[in-house]
Amino acid sequence: MRCPACGSLDDKVVDSRQSEDGSSIRRRRACLACQRRFTTFERLEEVPLTVVKRSGDREPFDPAKVVAGLELATKGRPIGAEALDQLAAGVEESMRLEGAEVTSDAVGRAVLERLRDLDVVAAVRFASVYKEFDDLADFERELDELMGPSRLTKSTEPKRH
Ligand SMILES: [Zn+2]
Repeated sequence: MRCPACGSLDDKVVDSRQSEDGSSIRRRRACLACQRRFTTFERLEEVPLTVVKRSGDREPFDPAKVVAGLELATKGRPIGAEALDQLAAGVEESMRLEGAEVTSDAVGRAVLERLRDLDVVAAVRFASVYKEFDDLADFERELDELMGPSRLTKSTEPKRH
């Protein structure tokens, strides 16, 4: 960081403090050339997250849509609304780590993985909803994994639709 007094690029961080809500980090720096102290703030960059659908259409990631899908899948299951919000937020976070553009398949898989830890029945339901919309490429494999080894089907068995 360029020193505001002498323009030197050499500094060291002498103190680092997170804001109360965790949305920013304040760093106290000292210029190594002139000893001047100055402060910088670090924040999460708000990059739009885009979902690329199988059709090639792009739409902004919408956690509300994820929650709506989850509400459908968890209907009648002992899962609170807060857990669904958290799950959607967790999916968004992991998708942002993937980059600015993610596929709808990747989002579906991320939801499924988290939902599986929460409630297997809901996860199976969610997977079948995805299958209906033809959005989850490897639905069959996921479902087999969900149901465990006892449900493994022979690869020669014709698929029933
Ligand atoms: Zn300086």
